[in-house]
Amino acid sequence: MTYNWCHGPNCHTIQTQSRVRGSGDNKVLRTIKIKEGGSYRTHEQYSMFNYFCNQNCLMDFIRTHLQSIVAIAPRREALETPIKVVKEKYESQRYEWNGDNSRYVPYTATRTTIKRVDNDNG
Ligand SMILES: [Zn+2]
Repeated sequence: MTYNWCHGPNCHTIQTQSRVRGSGDNKVLRTIKIKEGGSYRTHEQYSMFNYFCNQNCLMDFIRTHLQSIVAIAPRREALETPIKVVKEKYESQRYEWNGDNSRYVPYTATRTTIKRVDNDNG
């Protein structure tokens, strides 16, 4: 069975019974050991939770190594997704109260929808 140690930089400092190892006066808190495809089994074989025992350890890792992580795939320019913004009118009703009674009044409402434009390379 393959396993990883949790990559959270502070994993070994968090006080839980599951991290206690050793005996007598030689006890330690130890980094959580993760079996691949173990307790956090998902449909993704290589889930991030094969490397982190929980989301806190994942976020600690990202905070600690943020500059290195973004250097792997730097974004120097904005990306753009072609879209069409479609305005449609549709019949709706609003609730009206005149102090004595209420009724639904029909009116024409407008809905704005963002639609993807398919590229040639689809
Ligand atoms: Zn951890």
